Amino acid sequence: MAGKLTRCPVCGKPVSWEENPYRPFCSRRCKLVDLDLWLSEEYRISVPREVLEDETEEVEGGKV
Ligand SMILES: [Zn+2]
Repeated sequence: MAGKLTRCPVCGKPVSWEENPYRPFCSRRCKLVDLDLWLSEEYRISVPREVLEDETEEVEGGKV
């Protein structure tokens, strides 16, 4: 066996683990693609979450 092989999480290509500066990605491009997705997802999630939590607390009124 020559070296550890893994798969690029972005494109699914087999990637050699050793001497690979972009691991676990196969290339710089895939690394940037993944980072970009991750950042845009963080943006989307963190904004509406706070709004939803605020709204649910105000739903319970005092009408019984
Ligand atoms: Zn890739």
